[in-house]
Amino acid sequence: MKEMICIVCPKGCHLKVDENNDYSVTGNACPRGAEYGKNELKNPMRMVTSTVKIEGALLRRCPVKTSVAIPKGKMFEVVQALNSVTVKSPIKCGDVIIKNVAGCEADIISAKSM
Ligand code: SF4
Repeated sequence: MKEMICIVCPKGCHLKVDENNDYSVTGNACPRGAEYGKNELKNPMRMVTSTVKIEGALLRRCPVKTSVAIPKGKMFEVVQALNSVTVKSPIKCGDVIIKNVAGCEADIISAKSM
């Protein structure tokens, strides 16, 4: 039995997930908490927000994020990919910086026009 706090909404329900009983979840006030608790043990996913180097802009780093959540186990590969890329100004908010980063079905997109 694993205990965790649901982070899907600000209510922060205290969940208990029983990995020996088909990942049944208790303590959730809504179905989203059950899904979160199950996924958190089976395949945890995270959004990544970071910055990449940019040339030709006033600032030296451009904020970026993943287009969708990625498997937590891919975080290191994604950060390595971010460290190896340099973009050139002008960049528009929402531009794709890296397509299918680290083999995930997520793109790295710009979070700011620069
Ligand atoms: S279980 Fe539902 S109500 Fe509770 S924190 Fe998660 S999303 Fe919010």
